[in-house]
This record gives sequence, C-alpha cells and structure tokens, in this order.
Amino acid sequence: LITLEGLTKVFETEEVETHALSNIHLNIRQGEWVAIVGPSGSGKSTLLAVLGLLDTTTRGTYLLDGKSVLDLSATDRALVRNRHIGFIFQSFNLIGDLTVFENVELPLTYRGMPAAERKQRVERALEKVGMAHRARHMPGQLSGGQQQRVAVARAVAGDPLILLADEPTGNLDSKNGEAVMQLLSELHKAGATICMVTHDPAHARTATRTVSLFDGRIVQDEQRR
Ligand code: ATP
Ligand code: MG
Repeated sequence: LITLEGLTKVFETEEVETHALSNIHLNIRQGEWVAIVGPSGSGKSTLLAVLGLLDTTTRGTYLLDGKSVLDLSATDRALVRNRHIGFIFQSFNLIGDLTVFENVELPLTYRGMPAAERKQRVERALEKVGMAHRARHMPGQLSGGQQQRVAVARAVAGDPLILLADEPTGNLDSKNGEAVMQLLSELHKAGATICMVTHDPAHARTATRTVSLFDGRIVQDEQRR
C-alpha cells in the first residue's frame, strides 16, 4: 500500500541542519497496524507528517497505492491527502466553533461530496465511535476522550487508504486512552490499515508490527503476526 525508498528529510535552520529522517526504507501492506516507536527527537512525528503529506521530503520516493506522491503540486497533494489519508493528532485538532457533526463533515465537503451522502457518512462514522448522541454538541462541551473519538470519526468518515495517528492517547487519561485503543482495534479488525506513533510499550504491542526509530533511522522492524 505504501512504499518509502531512501526517504530523507533535512530541516535547515540558520546555522544547523537536522537530519530528521535518513534514508528510510519502509513498506506498509494493506491491513497492517504499524506502531512507530523511538526516543524523543528520533523522527517519529516527521515520518508520520511525511506519510500524511503534511510535510515535504528532501530526497527519496513515496508510493501511495502505486502512485508517486512526492512530486505532486501542493494542490494535488492536498487532494490526495483529503481523499486517501485519515489523520489523528495528539491534541484532537477539532474546530472549536463547528459542531461535532460539522467537524466530521468538513473533509467530505472539501471533497465536493453531495450533502445526502455526507450526512449518511457522518452519521455512520459517529455511530462507529459511539458519539452519535453528541452530534450537535460543540467540541468544548466534550471530554478529551470524547473529542478524540470524534477526531477518529472525522479521520475514517471518508474511507481513507490509511489511518495515521501521532500519539492518539498522549493527552488522555488511561481509561480514555484504552477506549481509543479499543476503537483502533475494531477499525483494524474491520480491515483498516493503521500507522500509529506511540510512547506506550503496551500500545505498541497491540499493533501487528513495531518499527523503531533512532536518530532518523529504522533500527528495528518487528512483525508479530
Ligand atoms: P517526540 O517523541 O518528542 O515527539 P519525534 O520522534 O516525534 O519526537 P520529530 O518531531 O520527528 O521527533 O523530530 C525529529 C528531529 O527533527 C528533531 O531533532 C527535531 O528537533 C527536528 N525537527 C522537527 N521539526 C522541525 C522543524 N520544523 N524545524 C527544524 N527541526 C525540526
Ligand atoms: Mg513527535
């Protein structure tokens, strides 16, 4: 589903060059659940941002579903991102002055989907995460765990090829964190491909594969099943 070859990302600031990612080779197959682990600063978020087309790359190849996506214009990149990638952030990133329903609907609106289909998809996604009864609430009226479940609904409503999550439980207490992990488990069982950054070894073990980064390089790649 995803192929990275020789992927390198260098951040250049005034005096220093940081090799956030160095020569990354990675294949992610459909249906895999990959946990990305490694110390702070090892390049986990950078890798996820590159996979999510949120950030450009310095060198290398990225094939998404067989198509090269790094040489696209910014506009085409945004289209591919909107159509094929679901992103879940540590800080939920819901829009505060839109309702729960509108938050989940927005990426579908950007895509030009007709209103009737949007409504159906938003309702289905909110049901999937157990938040249908909060559709008319504002994000500020929800607990952190509930907000993250809405963010998961937003990420999956458009049936993305891959779900990317950067420490999705990082801002949650353990009970809500487990609920989000349970949700990811269900999505994975239903066929979703997931790539998740985590600091929690137990969460990494729930994934089917763990990729360890150190200093921008893959130092271990462990397949469990
Ligand atoms: P953490 O566990 O703390 O979230 P991480 O593994 O996600 O760490 P990254 O955020 O990917 O680490 O950062 C990798 C390296 O790239 C770090 O050395 C960081 O300082 C550097 N870096 C990240 N973003 C930028 C940026 N916008 N400009 C310059 N350097 C950056
Ligand atoms: Mg990070």
